[in-house]
Amino acid sequence: MSQMTPEDAPWLTGGPAGRVLALLNDGGEEARVVGGAVRNALLKIPIGDIDIATTALPDEVMRRAKEAGIKCVPTGIDHGTVTLVVDGHPFEVTTLREDTETFGRKAKVAFGRDWISDAHRRDFTINALSLSADGVVHDYVGGLDDIAARRVRFIGNPAERIAEDYLRILRFFRIHAAFGAGEVDRPGYLACIAAREGLAALSAERVRTELLKLLIADGAVAAVTAMADGGLLLPILGGVAYLGPFAAMIAAERRLALTADPVRRLAALAVAVTEDAKRLALRLRLSNAEAKAIDSMGHRWWRLGGMDEATAKRRLYRLGADRYRDRLLLAWARAGTAADPVPWLELATLSQRWSAPKFPLKGADFIARGVAEGPALGHVLTLAEDAWLAADFPLDGVVLSVIADQAVARINSSSKDGRP
Ligand code: ATP
Ligand code: MG
Repeated sequence: MSQMTPEDAPWLTGGPAGRVLALLNDGGEEARVVGGAVRNALLKIPIGDIDIATTALPDEVMRRAKEAGIKCVPTGIDHGTVTLVVDGHPFEVTTLREDTETFGRKAKVAFGRDWISDAHRRDFTINALSLSADGVVHDYVGGLDDIAARRVRFIGNPAERIAEDYLRILRFFRIHAAFGAGEVDRPGYLACIAAREGLAALSAERVRTELLKLLIADGAVAAVTAMADGGLLLPILGGVAYLGPFAAMIAAERRLALTADPVRRLAALAVAVTEDAKRLALRLRLSNAEAKAIDSMGHRWWRLGGMDEATAKRRLYRLGADRYRDRLLLAWARAGTAADPVPWLELATLSQRWSAPKFPLKGADFIARGVAEGPALGHVLTLAEDAWLAADFPLDGVVLSVIADQAVARINSSSKDGRP
C-alpha cells in the first residue's frame, strides 16, 4: 500500500476522471484507476489514457452514465468494457473479471468483484497496481517494489503467462524499454526466448501497436538488441535486422532534435531495399501513409551519400522536405559510425537553409510556343523542368525563355525522328 498525493495524480479528484470515479463509487460498487496511468504517475512521467476498473456490471455502468447525462459507448461490451466520454475525454471502464477455467490459451471469463484476481490477470507487476479515489495505491503482486527498481517482471510463472498470450513477449520488451532500467529480467527473457515460436500466430494489428511503441521508447536500442540476441526479431520482421543503423538513426534524430518517428526507425532497423518496405507494410499492416513513407525511404537511399549541394537541391525538390530528410537519414544511419557527421548534418538540414522555388514555366508558356495540349505538353514540361533543375533553378526570365525554347526544339526534332 502506498498513498498518492494530489500532486502525484492531480487528475484523480475533480476533473473528468474524478467524475467517472465518483459516479461508480457509490451504491455498494467500487471503481479504481488501473494499469498504465497508475504506473506512470508513480514513475512521475506523463500519463496516457486513464483506464478504470469497477465492480459494477456493464449494464449498471451504462445506466449510471445515462442517468448522469454522460455519453456512453459499448466499445468492448463482450469483455465488459464500455467507454464513458466526459468533456471530450474518453475513459474505458471495464468490469472486473475472473478466469473461471483456462483452456490452453483461451480463458473462460466471468465478471467478478475481486481486485486481487483482476491484478493477477494482468501481465507485469508494474502494470497491476490499482488506485482508489482516496489516493491509496493497492499492490497485490509486488508492483511497488518493481516500480522503485524499474524492473519489469511477469506476474506468476513467465512461461505460463506467455502461453496465455504470446503478445506478452513483445510487451515485455516494450514495457521494459519504456519504463525499465538496466538489463531485462532474466527469467522473463529466457521464457520469451523459449516461447518465440508463438510469435508467428499473432495478428498483424497487435504486433504493429506494440512494435511501433517499442521502437520509440527510451530504451529501444538495448531492448531491440536483446530481442535480436534471443532470436525474437526474425519472426516479427521476417527479414534481416540492422542493429547498428537502428542505433545510428536514433542518434541522428536526436542530433537534429526531431521527434522520434516509429516508421523512420523501423526503416533503419529493417529496410535495405524496397522489397523490405513492402514486406513490412504487409506484415505490420501499416497505414497507406506509413507504407508510402517507408517505401520512399528504401528507394535507392544509397545515392544520397556524399552528394554535392546542387544534387542535394535537386533531390530535395523532387522528394519534398519530409521524404528527402527521411531518406537521407536512412543513408546516414547506414553509413556506419566512422562516417564524419558534418557533411551529413549539412545535407540533412538543407531544407532549413534553402527551399525549392516552384517551377516557373507553365503549360501556357509552351502553348504560346505552338505546342498542342495533351501528351506533347506534358512531355515538353518534363523536359523543361529537367533542364531547369540541371541549370540550378534559374528564375531569370531570359534564361527561362531559352530553356522553354530548347525544350520545344527538342520535342519538335524528336517528333520528326518519329519518336514521341
Ligand atoms: P501505455 O501507457 O503505453 O498505454 P499501458 O500499460 O496502459 O501502457 P495498454 O496496452 O494500454 O498499456 O494496457 C493497459 C493495461 O492492461 C496494462 O497496464 C496491463 O495491466 C493490461 N494489459 C494490456 N495488455 C495485456 C496483455 N496482453 N496481457 C495482460 N494484461 C494486459
Ligand atoms: Mg494504455
